[in-house]
Amino acid sequence: MARPKHPESQMMSFGYRPEWSEGSVKPPVFMTSTFAFKTAEEGKAFFEVAYGLREQGEDEKLGLIYSRINNPNLEILEDRLCLWDEAEDCAVFESGMSAISTLFLEFLKPGDTLLYSLPLYGGTEHFINHFLTEIGVRCIGFYPGETKEEVMARLDAQKAGDKLALIYVETPANPTNDLIDIAMCKEIAEAYSTSERKVYLAADNTYMGPLWSHPLQLGADLVLYSATKYIGGHSDLIAGAILGGCEVMQRIKVLRTFLGNMPSPHTCWLLMRSLETLKVRMEQQARSARKVAEFLSEREEVEHLHYLGFLEETSPDYAIYRRQYSSGGAMLSFEIKGGEPAAFRFLNHLKLIKLAVSLGSTESLVQHPATMTHVGLPNEMKQRIGITPGLIRLSIGVEHHEDLIADLKRALEAG
Ligand SMILES: *Cc1c(COP(=O)(O)O)cnc(C)c1O
Repeated sequence: MARPKHPESQMMSFGYRPEWSEGSVKPPVFMTSTFAFKTAEEGKAFFEVAYGLREQGEDEKLGLIYSRINNPNLEILEDRLCLWDEAEDCAVFESGMSAISTLFLEFLKPGDTLLYSLPLYGGTEHFINHFLTEIGVRCIGFYPGETKEEVMARLDAQKAGDKLALIYVETPANPTNDLIDIAMCKEIAEAYSTSERKVYLAADNTYMGPLWSHPLQLGADLVLYSATKYIGGHSDLIAGAILGGCEVMQRIKVLRTFLGNMPSPHTCWLLMRSLETLKVRMEQQARSARKVAEFLSEREEVEHLHYLGFLEETSPDYAIYRRQYSSGGAMLSFEIKGGEPAAFRFLNHLKLIKLAVSLGSTESLVQHPATMTHVGLPNEMKQRIGITPGLIRLSIGVEHHEDLIADLKRALEAG
């Protein structure tokens, strides 16, 4: 039978057959730390491949050895995740942060330069400015809207271009949905690559993937996720993922084996459960987000609504939006007139929408970036990227949009 074309049709079956496990329709949770070899010769052959002592034979699969290296739940999950991004390989991690820090540790050495987009997720920003800089990595940020020429001039002025090893971007930027042009970053990576030294481009696609944007198809070498968000989608687990071509992923997987930061079989099983409904969840969330955005755009208490579905064709981000995204997404932010007091009054009056950080879950979540997720940023940067005292970030869940709007309306009018 030809394989169904659409990833959502394969999430219930790809990489697993019921006859392998007593007819069980769902893969069992393989709660084991280690796997028995049939013979000593087989154990030797598996280790040779796992440690890269010889090339893998054409039809040879890496045999199951030990759950830090591989486990059926980990492997089936990684095979299924590859389908959404059309990636050659995938590595899943015990958190988004462990995926991100493993990427940095593998692709950056002391003396190298990292170029990164601003603003970044707080944990990523902390790892860059409190760990990478400490070990002698030169870290240079750039803002949404800066041109290729401006970014390259900054690298050259600091004589950091010839040591450029990695470009790391997060787009849309959290919490204001500013866009970073992946094609432009690819051009920068190519401009500084030489025949001996390739500059890699990695994109954190947590906000829009793996459904509405596919950075690997847009020129990125690696795509990263906090799988805690849309991929997990139920606020009940922490996980991360990296996807890319075989060669870069081999490097990532070897480092993961020795850092030991893979997820448990149980977390992998939960993520497979989540992938079955990924598309229906995300599509519903995006439909409701549009309705909520329409409501907010007409409220006099609200200004500066940041919602990608309403970008004006004349705005500079519009061309990037059309190239990179197939939906306006389900994340939005807006300012409430009246600053922090008005924002807090509004937050304290919401009932259905939960006041909590994180995003991409079945329940809608709301938070106040200036005093919560982005509290650690210097004031100057907060101002530059639009994190004002009145700014509110909303992650839309799968509730009926009428109930969400009623909740928002009551909280706005409570002021
Ligand atoms: C949450 C998040 C992370 C960190 O992921 P964890 O799973 O919390 O470790 C990284 N990037 C983005 C964009 C996120 O939203």
